[in-house]
Amino acid sequence: MGSVGDAVTGGSRRRRVLFFPLPFQGHINPMFQLAGLLHARGFAVTFFHTHFNAPDPSRHPDYDFVPVPGFDNTAEGNSSLDTVVQVTLEHILAMNRACEAPFRERLAALLRRKEEEKEDVACLVADAHLLSLMDVTRGLGVPTLVLRTGSAACFRLFVAFPMLCDKGYQPPQESQLDAPVPELPPYRVRDLISTNAAGHGIIREVISRIMTAAESSSGLIFNTFDALEADELASLRRDLTVPVFAIGPLHKLSPAALSSSLLQQDRGCLAWLDSQPPASVLYVSFGSLASVSASDLVETARGIAGSGRPFLWVLRPGLVNDASYSQQLPEGFDAATRGRGVVVSWAPQEEVLTHPSVGGFWTHCGWNSTMEAVCAGVPMLCRPCFGDQMGNARYVNHVWRIGVELNGQLERSKVQAAIETLMGGAELRQRAKELKSRAAEFVTETGSSSANVDKLVKHIMSLRRD
Ligand code: UDP
Repeated sequence: MGSVGDAVTGGSRRRRVLFFPLPFQGHINPMFQLAGLLHARGFAVTFFHTHFNAPDPSRHPDYDFVPVPGFDNTAEGNSSLDTVVQVTLEHILAMNRACEAPFRERLAALLRRKEEEKEDVACLVADAHLLSLMDVTRGLGVPTLVLRTGSAACFRLFVAFPMLCDKGYQPPQESQLDAPVPELPPYRVRDLISTNAAGHGIIREVISRIMTAAESSSGLIFNTFDALEADELASLRRDLTVPVFAIGPLHKLSPAALSSSLLQQDRGCLAWLDSQPPASVLYVSFGSLASVSASDLVETARGIAGSGRPFLWVLRPGLVNDASYSQQLPEGFDAATRGRGVVVSWAPQEEVLTHPSVGGFWTHCGWNSTMEAVCAGVPMLCRPCFGDQMGNARYVNHVWRIGVELNGQLERSKVQAAIETLMGGAELRQRAKELKSRAAEFVTETGSSSANVDKLVKHIMSLRRD
C-alpha cells in the first residue's frame, strides 16, 4: 500500500499528472475522484477543461486549472430519447475538433513552463472519448492514459462491436430484442447499445475512436473492481495489448473531497431522511442526461403516489423531453403524498444512497449510479434509457440479481407493482448487502483495488516522455 509522497520517491523532481474529463457529470465525477487518489499519492494535478460545464477551481485549491476555449455549449434541452444519444455524440466529436488547436497551444505552453520550473509532467489521463486531444498530447511527447467511466462489460461490448455489426445484432432489429447474444453473454439484443439506422453510423464512429484511444494509450483505467466484473476484466486483459487497471469503486477509494457536482445539491433532503424509518425510502433519480416523456413522468408520479411508500425524487431541470411540459406534477400528487415525500432538483446522491433510511433506488442505471448503489447495498429498480444503461441494467438484474426491471410504456399499476417488488424484496436486499460487503473488501488497504492503485502509481512513474 502506498502513501502520500510515494509518487515523488526515486527522483528529486515532483511529478505532475494532467487530466482532461469529458464535460458531463457522469464523466467529471470519476475523473476528479481519480485525481484525488493520485494527488494523495504525491502527484501534482492539472485539470484541462472546456468552458462548457467547467469545474469550480475554488473547490479544489490544490489543483491547477487550464480552461480550453472552443467548445462552449452542447445538446439543447428537451431532446427526445431517439435524438439525445445522437446529439450528445455529435457534440463529443465537435468538442474533439474544436478543442484540438487551443489545447495544443496550452499544453505546449504548460510543458515549457514546467521544464523551466524543473517539474516533470508524467502523463495525461483523458476521458476515452477524447481521442483528438490524446493524439495532440502524444504528438508533444507526453504519454497518455485513458479513463473509461463505464463498466468493463460495456468495454467488452465495444471490443466486440464490429462482430456484432457483421452478425446483424447492430443496429438491433425490433423483432429480435429478446433474443440472446450467445457470443456475448449475458446480453440480449435489447441490452446492447440501442440505435436506429440513422444513429448507427455515429455510434460506430464513436466506438471505433474509443478503441483507438485505448489501444494507442499507455494504459486503460476502469472504475470497477474484480469481484464485480472478474470475467469481463479477464477478457479485456486477454484481448487488449495495453495494461488494464481496475481501481474502483473510485468514490470509495478517493479521499473525501469537495464535490465536483455541476448542479447545486439540495442537502435539506438529508435531514428529512433522518426522520424516516430504516430502509423505508424509495430514492428516484435518472442522472444528469437521461430524459423522460411527459406521459412517463405522469405515470411515474401516479405510481409513486399510489405505492404509499416514502420517497425522495430528483426532478432535474430539463428531465422531461416534451417542450410543452411545464414541470408540473399531476394534479392531486401533492395532496396524495403530503408528508410522505420530498422532491428536489438535484441531490447529494452518494450521501443519499448510504443513508440508512433509503431502501431502494429507481435509477436509469448510469454506471456511477450503479456503482454507488452497489457499494451502498441498495437494490435497484432499473429503467435504462440509452447508451450503456441497458447493459448495466442487465448485470444488475440478471448477474448480480439485486434489481427489478421496468421496461416499456409506463402506467401507474405497473409502476406500483415494481416499487412493491423492490421495496418488499427481502432476498434482493440480502443479495445487495452481500455485494456491498464484497465491494468493501476491495477498498481496504489489502484489497485488490488498492493493490491496483499501487500498480497504477508504479506504472505512471515508469512512463517516459519522448
Ligand atoms: N448525481 C448527483 N445528484 C443527483 C443525481 C445524480 O450528485 O441528484 C450524481 C451521481 O451521484 C453520479 C452522477 O451524478 O455520480 C451521474 O452519473 P451516472 O453515470 O450515474 O449517470 P449520467 O448522469 O452520466 O447519465
